[in-house]
Amino acid sequence: MKRASEKSYISKRFMEKYTKARSQMQSQPEKQFKEDNSQDKAMKSEEEVKHQEDLLANISEEDLSQEEVDSDDLGDDIAAGRQPQQQMQFQMQAQQQIQPQNIMPQFQQQQFPMYQMNQAQIIPQFQQQKQQQMIQPQNQIQKSMTGIASSNKRQKLSSQPQQQMLPQSKQEQSKAKGFFQNLVQPVQNLFGNKNSNNNSNSNILNNNAMNLNQNMLMNNIGIQPQNAFSNNFIAVQQQQPQNFAGIQQLQMSNNMNPIQPSGKRYKQEIDTNVFSLSMDCLKKDAEIATGDPLYCDSCKGIFNKFSTILEESSQQFWTCEFCFHKNKVDIEQGEIPKSDTVNYILEAAPYKEEEKKQDSTKDQSKSDISVVYCMDISGSMSYRASSSGKISISREVQKRDKTRLDCVKDSIIGQIREMAVQHPDRKVGLVTFSDRIAIIGDGVRGTEYFGNAQLQEYDFIVKTGVACAATQFSNSISQCKDSLSQKIAALQTEGSTALGPAILASIAIAGEGSPGSQVIVCTDGQANIGLGALNTHNQLAANQFYYKIGEYAKDKGVTVHIVTIIGQECQIDAITPVSEITGGQIERVDPMELRSNFQDFLAKSVLATKVELKVKLHKGLEFRNEIDQNLSCNKTVLTKEFGNVNEDTDVTFEYKVKGIKELIKIQDLDLTQLNRLPFQAQIYFTALDGARCVRVISCQTEISNDKQELEKNANFEILGLNAIQQSSKLARQGDYKQAQVAAKAWDNRLERVAMSNNNMMQMEQFSNFRSNVGGVYSIMNQQRQQPLSMQQQKTDQVSQMLYSNSRINKAKFSKQN
Ligand SMILES: [Zn+2]
Repeated sequence: MKRASEKSYISKRFMEKYTKARSQMQSQPEKQFKEDNSQDKAMKSEEEVKHQEDLLANISEEDLSQEEVDSDDLGDDIAAGRQPQQQMQFQMQAQQQIQPQNIMPQFQQQQFPMYQMNQAQIIPQFQQQKQQQMIQPQNQIQKSMTGIASSNKRQKLSSQPQQQMLPQSKQEQSKAKGFFQNLVQPVQNLFGNKNSNNNSNSNILNNNAMNLNQNMLMNNIGIQPQNAFSNNFIAVQQQQPQNFAGIQQLQMSNNMNPIQPSGKRYKQEIDTNVFSLSMDCLKKDAEIATGDPLYCDSCKGIFNKFSTILEESSQQFWTCEFCFHKNKVDIEQGEIPKSDTVNYILEAAPYKEEEKKQDSTKDQSKSDISVVYCMDISGSMSYRASSSGKISISREVQKRDKTRLDCVKDSIIGQIREMAVQHPDRKVGLVTFSDRIAIIGDGVRGTEYFGNAQLQEYDFIVKTGVACAATQFSNSISQCKDSLSQKIAALQTEGSTALGPAILASIAIAGEGSPGSQVIVCTDGQANIGLGALNTHNQLAANQFYYKIGEYAKDKGVTVHIVTIIGQECQIDAITPVSEITGGQIERVDPMELRSNFQDFLAKSVLATKVELKVKLHKGLEFRNEIDQNLSCNKTVLTKEFGNVNEDTDVTFEYKVKGIKELIKIQDLDLTQLNRLPFQAQIYFTALDGARCVRVISCQTEISNDKQELEKNANFEILGLNAIQQSSKLARQGDYKQAQVAAKAWDNRLERVAMSNNNMMQMEQFSNFRSNVGGVYSIMNQQRQQPLSMQQQKTDQVSQMLYSNSRINKAKFSKQN
């Protein structure tokens, strides 16, 4: 468990208000008991209650960590809303400060077209993100300007007049006015709008200049103009022209912006009270505890290294550090955990010796995981791969005649070859689907088919899958690679898309392998036949089906990844549960790029199955920005299920002090007397050997009211990761505006802090944040622009982007895309 800052933040003003309110409340009972008349006492008590209520009502829960975002600032681009005049100066700084290796891969990245479309955005973002450096003291800027002037060949740029320094608050104000708003104004001018602004025309020019500068920037770091052009070209092709020159942006914003109340301000609470927890901790050994975990009777916190025991008349007591409950305990010295991370075995691994003796071959056959490719061979897979809309001239010429199916075949055959070398014992097999299901297995024996009415028979499909696991998957990949490759090569397209039954059969098969087995589903169309068909009137039944098979897969320790092919809608949103519940990934890819995706899925092996995380907070705290259904115990316990996890599974969470009214009600808590706050993560999981365990990670933080100090040393990787996860989750729930506000507020704060600290590490993490958040932010914006009735309908691109960003991990965050 890592925290974004060393200490927990509680503002000084909050503490002052709390102390005052608390002492007012506490002075009440004394009055109450002065007279010993019971009737009077009852009356007093009523009076007192009323008085207390009045006191409570007068407490304003003003929040001091809030970042305000103006509605006009919620434009298409996360980096919008900066002062355009600063762009040229920023340009120079960017040239000096951004290392080529930080930028280059972003241009080169060709994996996912959805990222490509953002490349054009990324460049201006880089340009703009350094503008806030203007907040630095003047002499520092001059120093860096001199540095640029001497090192930069573009003397012309450095001759720009120096931006006059504004006090920080003014900077904020003018920032809030918004780049986006400035762009809209000239059009209003045409229609006689009184809000004319002399700056607006120059803003457009400036924006155009920015696009020109973008090319200069690319030249400067060694990227050919041709390349830059084709990147822009792709983006134009792929998406709306709003990413481009100011005038286009202006047209778009004018047409597509029906629901922007002008000047409304939104608040987002932002501070460094953020944790991240990486499941890679399950990879490492932890202190193995003897006995069972010792739970607090009241709050289910687990006795840990930081807990203290008091002896009173030969009886041990543990006053729980989370809820202050006094537990009677009987604990020996040797049972007290010595490290902050402890592993308890709740249920031993099933005893396998007997099985081994009886059937050594069967057990050996389970020694490596199973990989089941669940492959669409429906009619649409015969479309040309290049019809996906991706423009890639050289490749298009090379592979013009390849169909989607050809691409899938090549990718799987390629992977089979690699796996035969790297994991020779792995069981790998194939299930195909069209209007029937074909269980080809390892390709050594005949294929098992079923279709028609059987596509509606849940139990039949499971039974068939389980049976086929024994008969069709008996060879390891090193033994069957040739026969399987031949069968794959011979596949031809046919019929419709029985996606649901095929996934179910594949899960049933993989479930017979060892825990951590994986199903990789590859499809290019909507499920339209059999269980889980999405073209029927009974959408609810279809949705329930994907939940049900997700739970089934989770129970068997099977992860389900879904790859859809760009070009046709598959209703990803409806089939997402099966991946989400099992901890799988969802990708939309160009058929040409399939292979690297398949590799990605299998690169990280599953560490544990049936993973459930509980995080515990002190009772004076609560979680922030979490779904209510995941919270319990007065918002102090967060519960999340993960299905299967690998080392790349990262989760973040935010916490805050409860409101003053809430705090005062907790009679035995005096916040001012508290100098440390306890935190605990309890990770319940099934190890790959079948043992059920709980990993308990405990820590304590000091409390600080020095926000600047905390921000100065804050870990921006954790803050950035959290910002993307949180805002994507909000968007997934359909609250696109709040999602944008959250992303924007974090963006503003991180940028300001990184720049004013002049902290290179923070700046680097901020630029990682920017390049990751840009795409999903513009998706949120795009979705919010839809009429209300359409907002909940998500295209595959939207569903996939929101899903994968809600679970973005450190590896992806810091990958130089
Ligand atoms: Zn407790």
